[in-house]
Order: sequence, then C-alpha cells, then structure tokens
Amino acid sequence: MRATKAVIHLDCLKENIASIRRKIGPKVGICVPIKADAYGHGAVRVAVAAIRSGAAYLAVASVQEGIELRESGIVAPILLFSLPLPEELPAVVEHHLTLMITDKEFAEEAASAAREQDEIANVHIKIDTGMGRIGCRPEDALELAAFIASCKSLRYAGTASHFPSADSVCPDDIAYTKQQIALFKDAVSQIHSAGIDPGILHIANSGGVVLHEDSYFDMVRPGLLMYGYPPVESMAEAVPVKPVMELVTNIVFMKQVKKGDYISYGRTWQAPEDTVLATLPIGYADGLSRALSGQFSVCIKGKLYPLVGRICMDQCMVDLGKNPPVNRWDEVSVFGGADASFDAADIAKKLNTVPYEITCNINKRVPRVYLG
Ligand SMILES: *Cc1c(COP(=O)(O)O)cnc(C)c1O
Repeated sequence: MRATKAVIHLDCLKENIASIRRKIGPKVGICVPIKADAYGHGAVRVAVAAIRSGAAYLAVASVQEGIELRESGIVAPILLFSLPLPEELPAVVEHHLTLMITDKEFAEEAASAAREQDEIANVHIKIDTGMGRIGCRPEDALELAAFIASCKSLRYAGTASHFPSADSVCPDDIAYTKQQIALFKDAVSQIHSAGIDPGILHIANSGGVVLHEDSYFDMVRPGLLMYGYPPVESMAEAVPVKPVMELVTNIVFMKQVKKGDYISYGRTWQAPEDTVLATLPIGYADGLSRALSGQFSVCIKGKLYPLVGRICMDQCMVDLGKNPPVNRWDEVSVFGGADASFDAADIAKKLNTVPYEITCNINKRVPRVYLG
C-alpha cells in the first residue's frame, strides 16, 4: 500500500459518540452526518461504527451518497439534508431515503414519485428559522405540515431546522440562536395544536450540542464533534473529543544539503546552513494545500519538523536539521496524530478556513485504513 494514507481511528469515533451521549443524556437520538464521504473519513465504515455506537439516524447530502449506504446493506433511516432534483425522486423513494420538505411544490413532486411506486415516502419538514439556506418560513410551517399530513403517499416523520452560528459564544450569536429555538418551538406548537404530529424534532448541530442544551429536542446532528473537533474551541472540555482522521506518510528519501542549496519550485527556500532533508510522498493533490508551504510542520517520532520550500503536487520536503534521530522509511504523522502533531483545526486556522474543509479535501487517491 502507498505510504500516504488516512488512518481512521474508529475507536476515537466511538469514544466521541460516547462523549456526545454523556452530554445529551440517554433520551435524545443521534443523527450522524456522513455527507461528503463522512467528511472524508469514508461513509460506509463510519456509518456502521456509528450505528454500533448507538446512532439511530444517518444523514447525507446527495441521493448518490444515500444509495451507496443502502447498497452496502445499511437499513437505518437516512436523511437527505439537501434538495434533489425532481428527476432524482424515484431513486429517493426506491432507496427509502427520508426527504427534507421545504415547500408545497416539492411535497407534491415527492408525493407523486411515491405514488408511482406504490410506496409511502418518509419526509421531514425543514423550517428556515434563520440559516437562510433551505426551508419554509416559520409562519408557513403549519400549512405545509397540514398539506403533507393530507398526502396519502407521504409519512410526516419529523420537523427540523438548522443553526448558522450556534458555535459562537458572542452574545449576539447566542441571542440569534435562542431566537431560532423560539421560532422553531412556536411553529411546532402550532402544528401540534392543529392536531398534527410533527414527528421527530431536531435542530442541533455540533455547536448546538456544546452550547445550547435547550436545542436538543428529540435528536441532535453533530458532525464535526463526532469526527473529533470541538466546534467552540474555548469550550473543548464541555464535550471532550479526539480527531478520528490521522494523515500519515513515510520518509521515502533523505539527503544532506549544503548551505545555499535551493529547494523546490520557485526556489523559495535556500538552506541557511548544512542540514538533512527528507522527502515525503504527499502533496497538494492529496489534500495538503500548497498554501501551507513554509508554515507547516510534520511529526516524526514525537518531534515536529518544518516543511521547507513549496509543497508540490505529489511530494514535499522536510528540514530535519543536523544529525537527526530519524531514518529513511520512518513513519510521519502529517496531522491528527495522538502526540505533538498538528490537527485539522490548526491547519484550518493557517488557511483561514474550517477543519471540515481540511478532512473533506483528503481525496480519493489517499487510501483509508480503519483501526479500532
Ligand atoms: C452538515 C450539517 C450538520 C452537521 O453540522 P456540524 O457542524 O458538522 O455538526 C447538521 N445539520 C445539517 C442540516 C447539516 O447540513
């Protein structure tokens, strides 16, 4: 197998889910977001491990992602977070994916797709309480619920919303989230009052789980936390988690360089003194962003060493210093290791993005190896 691989620590995933469980208590359900190939961790293996750890629901973004899970034999309910095209609805019905319904037109399309297969499709209503992405306005939720309840080929199984800033401790963001929770409760109680059962209620993402206990309702949907990254860094202790993905590689070449030698494209680095360099078979085509050139270190035998020169498509160079206690073929932890290594959150900060994007960008060329 190739040196560069993403080791997926399923034991950490299980511990993270147990940590979430301790926070939310025994009664609240857990929905596992495994969109984007489980944030890059591998959807099927993560789904199986999460279900074994007590998760009841799975969630994906595309119909294709849902089909992949079904074809691997997974029978748990699968929520479709994003809206498919009408032409994808027959596959949604056939594979028993649960739709988020946002409007009457879409409900009609779903109802007719289900009718055509003589099926009853499970649907949840998505209310937009302030995310501004998909969903009906809170004041229209009752009408949509009544319409869905009247469709014989639809089963109204849940009501949901989503937070844009539940991971922020700014008072303004906290107030905004509280207002969303109030809007959600109000819409749900209108549906109840009309004699309609709104099904499973769910709104909390990772930020909601950590910061807003009043957002748990019947089920929570924490993705980032489950993969081992605290959504609110200052509150990492509230729900302790460990990174599930560790990106590793091996040293494939070592050489002595002389003071003044240039290294890599653009000759951006020149050895300030005689030193030993290692070459690693990992580059930006594996998801190690070129923008990290000159500001990143990898961990070898528990010690950090800086990358020098530009990160190439498939390779990069590390300065080991004089007489390093390191050998050719030694293993290298690029990020997410248990010891001193950087994690996806450290990298995200350097790249002005979020840890989600770092693990998602570790692409298909990098084999996933499952431990635990
Ligand atoms: C991705 C997603 C989540 C999970 O968000 P995290 O921040 O990873 O916890 C929850 N709900 C919806 C609708 C999502 O799209």
